Amino acid sequence: MKRLSVVLALVLALVFSVSAANAGKMEEIKERGTLICGVKDSVNLFGFVDPDTNELVGFDVDICKYIASKLGVDVEFKVVTSKNRIPMLAQGSVDMLAATMTHKFSRDEKIDFSITYFMDGQKLLVEKGSGIMSTDDLAGKKVGTVKGSTSEKNIKTAQPKAHVISFDEYPQAFQALKQGKVVAVTTDSGILAGLKAGDDHPENWEIVGEFFSAEPYGLGVPENDSDFRDFVNKTLNEMWLDGTYHQLFKKWMGYDLPAGWEIEQWPM
Ligand code: GLU
Repeated sequence: MKRLSVVLALVLALVFSVSAANAGKMEEIKERGTLICGVKDSVNLFGFVDPDTNELVGFDVDICKYIASKLGVDVEFKVVTSKNRIPMLAQGSVDMLAATMTHKFSRDEKIDFSITYFMDGQKLLVEKGSGIMSTDDLAGKKVGTVKGSTSEKNIKTAQPKAHVISFDEYPQAFQALKQGKVVAVTTDSGILAGLKAGDDHPENWEIVGEFFSAEPYGLGVPENDSDFRDFVNKTLNEMWLDGTYHQLFKKWMGYDLPAGWEIEQWPM
């Protein structure tokens, strides 16, 4: 009888430990009462510090807030860079990433992604009148971008003869452009628009060339947790249907969402 109860205790311990291990992100977040979202803090329009309030604001920040509100929890932000964001999510330091992150199959190895919530592509930011019109003009020239970004890889493919200098974040690359250390900054056009708009003299800069990459942004979610991923995708659909997506797009990008692009919608 004693042996039987020992076996029973072991079985119960195993069952509980397995179910604890399977307790997904949804339960973890609800128990904690907070969604921990990884966002950028120096990408104007998407994730940046409002100089008046000292608070993190932007399109990605508002998406985190919306998802947290639908979960009925508070939101906490942790700052990520292009280089550390995937390790931070994979290690569980954040529950989700809303960080101008392109969904690539190679990035799918360590984390999962939501449906595409923003569509962009890569361009160049140059000084007005510089004569640089496209990646063709960058052979033998220095170009600034960011470590761990798709932009860093894409520019090397688009113009193998360019000297690519990678910084931790985009404002540093822009600073290098202002100091004449690089002749262009390259990344997604929305980020370039944010750099230009945030400058004291936006008229000094221009975004040039054709798109030379496709950058579909996905929210980063933990690998193999389909309950949480389903929830995030459904919430993005709700955000689209209730008009919040369009309102936030206009608020941050400064113009109406162009006709012709829609979030992937699934019937409820
Ligand atoms: N969307 C690109 C990427 O995910 C460039 C912007 C960024 O560095 O976050 O790498």
